[in-house]
Amino acid sequence: MADDRARRVRELIQPLLVKPGSKVDLSKDFDPRYKAGFLRKQDGQELLQTGISLLADYQRRLAAQSTYGILVCLQALDAGGKDSTIRHVMSGINPQGVQVSNFKVPSAEELDHNYLWRYTCRLPARGEIGIFNRSHYEEVLVVRVHPENLDRQQLPESARRGDIWQRRFREINDWERHLFDNGFKIVKLFLNLSKEQQRIRFLKRIDVPDRNWKFSAADVRERKWWDDYQKAFSDMLSETSTEWAPWYVVPADRKWFARICAAAVLAHTLIEIDPQYPTVSKQRLEELRAVRAELEREAPAGAESDPYASGRHQKNRQVNKKSKK
Ligand code: ATP
Ligand code: MG
Repeated sequence: MADDRARRVRELIQPLLVKPGSKVDLSKDFDPRYKAGFLRKQDGQELLQTGISLLADYQRRLAAQSTYGILVCLQALDAGGKDSTIRHVMSGINPQGVQVSNFKVPSAEELDHNYLWRYTCRLPARGEIGIFNRSHYEEVLVVRVHPENLDRQQLPESARRGDIWQRRFREINDWERHLFDNGFKIVKLFLNLSKEQQRIRFLKRIDVPDRNWKFSAADVRERKWWDDYQKAFSDMLSETSTEWAPWYVVPADRKWFARICAAAVLAHTLIEIDPQYPTVSKQRLEELRAVRAELEREAPAGAESDPYASGRHQKNRQVNKKSKK
């Protein structure tokens, strides 16, 4: 059953994977409107709910085990659906185990450090899921499309010589490799939106009063650089999809399908880690039994000595039975 679930998750996300070493041309290789043929929108909600409870269960184990951490990097153009993906996919998860970091235009303090510094500061701890809403990849996207951002980074002359983007790709790959080798799995999701769907979503922000707050004229101006962004995204996907941290291109024109895909990629990572609750040593079990005996003796007259062991709390019955000889 569990194997079957893992297989179905793998089948769903396989077409979204950017094979390490492959050369990507976004306009040809990935369709923003793609949807798995076997899925209909009506079934989508149920599937997402199943995925969310699966994630919640795995996340509890990830936190209890506290050996691995997960970093989710979300990249998209404006209106790509980053916020709503986070909201939906993470809705069933214990907020204590998740930390979302939004990366905007860097502050003066951030610009005073190396370009990976601010991302390092927000990395998840073991047992946690960290979500980067925009990520270190902005350093080879917006910074590349608008080179004035690079001017603000106060780099020495030597750091601007040669092919700076190739060097950044290598540095990012090395940084992620270091994290991976030390127990941090990286889930990289690019929400791939079509230019037409972006236009429609901007219009919705203008036409629907509740959405007006989301509208930004700057976002619309940024559409002028659409082709430059497509090229920068294509290069990023080609150069930084690695065995240890592959990219998944999530078709983003249908929000419901994008959410299912994002949940599935995260579920896949958790299934691979397969975190386990820590087991209790024999000595510790003895200690627990001794404490239980003491607590049972404290039961007031007329009260059950241990309602869990007597089976009134069904969920815990088996555990108690096992430990009660
Ligand atoms: P939303 O619009 O949903 O609130 P957002 O991520 O678009 O979310 P904004 O405040 O609108 O947030 O935009 C953040 C801006 O910061 C983006 O235009 C992005 O390109 C820019 N940005 C992010 N990282 C960098 C960076 N390293 N250098 C320069 N600009 C950056
Ligand atoms: Mg924005």
